[in-house]
Amino acid sequence: MQLCTRLTAVGLVGLCALSAQADTAGGIDTAAIIANDRTTENWPSYGLNYAETRFSRLDQINADNVGKLGLAWSYDLKSRRGVEATPLVVDGVMYVTASWSVVHAIDAATGEALWTYDPQVPREWAVKGCCDVVNRGVAIHDGKVFVGAFDGYLHAIDAATGERLWKVDTLIDRDKPYTITGAPRVINGRVIIGNGGAEYGVRGYLTAYDVKTGEQAWRWFSVPGNPDEPFEDESMKRAAETWDPAGKWWEEGGGGTMWDSMAYDPDLDLLYVGTGNGTPWNRLQRSPAGGDNLYLASVVALDPDTGEYQWHYQHTPGDSWDYTSTQHIILADLEIDGEKRKVLMQAPKNGFFFVIDRTNGEFISAEPFVQVNWAEGYDEDGRPIEVAGARSRTDPWETIPSPYGAHNWHPMSFNPETGLVYIPAQGVPLVVQNNPGYEYNKPTPGSPNAGLGWNTGYFFANVAPEATPFGTLLAWDPVKQEEAWRAEYVSPWNGGTLSTAGDLVFQGTADGRFIAYNARTGDPLWQTPVGSGVVAAPSTWEHDGEQYVSVAVGWGGVYGITQRATDTVGPGRVFTFRLEGDADMPESMVLRQPGELLQGVSYNPDDVAPGGALYMTNCLLCHGVPAVNNGGNLPNLGYSHPAMIRNIEDIVFTDARKVLGMPNFKGELTERELEQIVAFIQGSADAARAAMAEQDKAAASDN
Ligand code: CA
Repeated sequence: MQLCTRLTAVGLVGLCALSAQADTAGGIDTAAIIANDRTTENWPSYGLNYAETRFSRLDQINADNVGKLGLAWSYDLKSRRGVEATPLVVDGVMYVTASWSVVHAIDAATGEALWTYDPQVPREWAVKGCCDVVNRGVAIHDGKVFVGAFDGYLHAIDAATGERLWKVDTLIDRDKPYTITGAPRVINGRVIIGNGGAEYGVRGYLTAYDVKTGEQAWRWFSVPGNPDEPFEDESMKRAAETWDPAGKWWEEGGGGTMWDSMAYDPDLDLLYVGTGNGTPWNRLQRSPAGGDNLYLASVVALDPDTGEYQWHYQHTPGDSWDYTSTQHIILADLEIDGEKRKVLMQAPKNGFFFVIDRTNGEFISAEPFVQVNWAEGYDEDGRPIEVAGARSRTDPWETIPSPYGAHNWHPMSFNPETGLVYIPAQGVPLVVQNNPGYEYNKPTPGSPNAGLGWNTGYFFANVAPEATPFGTLLAWDPVKQEEAWRAEYVSPWNGGTLSTAGDLVFQGTADGRFIAYNARTGDPLWQTPVGSGVVAAPSTWEHDGEQYVSVAVGWGGVYGITQRATDTVGPGRVFTFRLEGDADMPESMVLRQPGELLQGVSYNPDDVAPGGALYMTNCLLCHGVPAVNNGGNLPNLGYSHPAMIRNIEDIVFTDARKVLGMPNFKGELTERELEQIVAFIQGSADAARAAMAEQDKAAASDN
């Protein structure tokens, strides 16, 4: 395949494809991934192809017959936390990950287990991740399966046997709260992976390793280090000029973690990567004099052979809202103003849909795909026109989109036949406020998750937002920069999308359905319940002349930890569908009864308010607001059993829940502080009960 690599590098991809042999996972390499895109029989890489279109050419299942779709098989991933993985399929074998980075190889025709590989992530690592112990999938190359484990190790596994071939530590410092949740990508014999952790305080970087040996080939940092020390490269020197040294960003790491999106153009031989938010979120605290803070919230083009910086485009200069640009990147050739343009498309958290020239990073267009209140639009040079007062305020203000993003990691897809991009769009309202007393790693009460190491520089304000939450499947025309059609959901946090030459769009939903739409009109054509909320994206593939559609189900992620839109929650599962499939839906769905509101724990009412601030700092982002709902994939404490809350120190000050990922707070919280937190939990449940009684009374008097 050396010849092929060279042909690819000089743009002779067509010739290269002819020489590709994709007989087994052993035959999957850069040329084979490119060749597969002509047929899309396999699904050999996270986004299907290097352009990450998630558009399949298979049309055996289509708008005319999708009503006959039925279950071929289901597979129990034996996990209880979020499942964000896209199932990869090569020549009849599926490779998919569950929570805690566990890899499953499955016979794609029958759904039978072939092997399982558990990277043994220590459960205490859970607290180092912002957003559930999730993993978005594997990469395949030359008979090997690669998984980036939650604790920062990259594992190479024999695709045939599930045996480990090598393992490397991708972390520059194991004492820092780094994680990996993204799927690796493989380009020309190198496996590439970034990391997460910008909420906590780490320095983002992307690393490439030799697929055979695991030896490091290159590393590119996304933000500069200490300016008093030599810079790694010119790109870091230029970046440092856009930060204010008074913020001493390097002590906190700066952020900019590249935890998800990548794409590759073999003709241009450019690797594209999306970068994350800064640490802390609030620029006022991070870089007091302002500045763009490169390369936060950007898309960056790198040389995939050397990791050398080529160009960047920054979607959100001087990000102050957690507006990561790690969201899905799609490459396409579009006709814009009568000219064929090689573009890169992205719908990052900040709510604008971007079309960028992928040859040089030149801005083409950006329009809001949801309501936004931080910028009026973008000027000709591609700079946002910020709304006055959209940042650095001392009073509480509602930031739209919120840090959950108008679109998060849930992959979108692009169908070149309809010309539409299918975006899982959303709104999760939130009101924030500057934390004037912010200090690195100081758990100021009221600062979200600061007791667990988060560094935002904000408070979540105790003020009701004006916006309402929503989840929408948006079909977006990237040339006209306008909506073509939409489907509304009952909740934010719906799954990624798949589009096909059968004129279909597939998406799983937060309320536990898997749906096929007409790609041109948005008419729903088929749906099935899947027992749990879906967050991952589906894939489709062909085996023995038959087309299948698969989706991994497992409710979770940063929103799904604390909230859900279903009454049932099953274990993580893969569902695979085919025409006339007649397998039985699995019955082992766990029904979590909405419990009784917590009652009867005594407390001092004066402790409720300070307890609330402590709760926000230590409990909120895993257990949600007590009594507002029945919890997500973790329990809402407002529905706890009274005996558990009365003896809460047996959980909070011990390792009792360590196996589930809950930290021991001994030494972090005092007994008095825990007493105040208990007051807030019981006080919230009492307030909810009183509000419900009031509602019942009002309803009774109406009748
Ligand atoms: Ca973030």
